[in-house]
Amino acid sequence: MAHEVPPLPYDYSALEPYIDSETMHLHHDMHHGAYVKNLNAALEKHPELQNKSADELLRNLNSIPEDIRGAVRNNGGGHVNHSMFWKIMKAKGGGAPNGKIAEAINKAFGDFESFKTKFNDAGAKQFGSGWAWLVRNQSGQLQVISTPNQDNPISQGLFPILGNDVWEHAYYLKYRNRRPEYLAAWWNVVNWDEVNKRFEQSTKAEVHEPALASR
Ligand code: MN
Repeated sequence: MAHEVPPLPYDYSALEPYIDSETMHLHHDMHHGAYVKNLNAALEKHPELQNKSADELLRNLNSIPEDIRGAVRNNGGGHVNHSMFWKIMKAKGGGAPNGKIAEAINKAFGDFESFKTKFNDAGAKQFGSGWAWLVRNQSGQLQVISTPNQDNPISQGLFPILGNDVWEHAYYLKYRNRRPEYLAAWWNVVNWDEVNKRFEQSTKAEVHEPALASR
């Protein structure tokens, strides 16, 4: 079964005015579409990997044959990252976090505002393309990190609870070069129920050793 782009769980215009409909069309259909197409093309060279989930591939990047490792890292990462991204947003989202993630954020960062500042800062300072993340590490602590390109934290043994895409394709049509403005606006579309589900999953996830080679 080839990997597929999941349909958006809402209309393309649902996240207006914070994320415009044209950006959503390009981002979901074209960019995510290309990651999935390129991932499937790479896996055709190694059909034994075709039944593995994209998460599983990224967790064990070192075991991926070298001729497709880069393609799997970039396009598998692009697929997993965006599949999460669409779900952790919704129309009329935002506001303060609720449930267990709210408690965990307060415990780790002091309060929601301090967490947001730290997260937005990680996104603003990520040089070039990449992602800002809230992750749970193997000791069970929450951390804010950023990754370049489409690297997903699961390749470092970290569980991604929430992430924001800071590639220019995510914001340039509306925000132009004003990435910090996009980062600030994005909180208005966060789906905290979904983030709580992911936090719950992170507490049950198996602990994985870092799968990236130490370089
Ligand atoms: Mn993207």
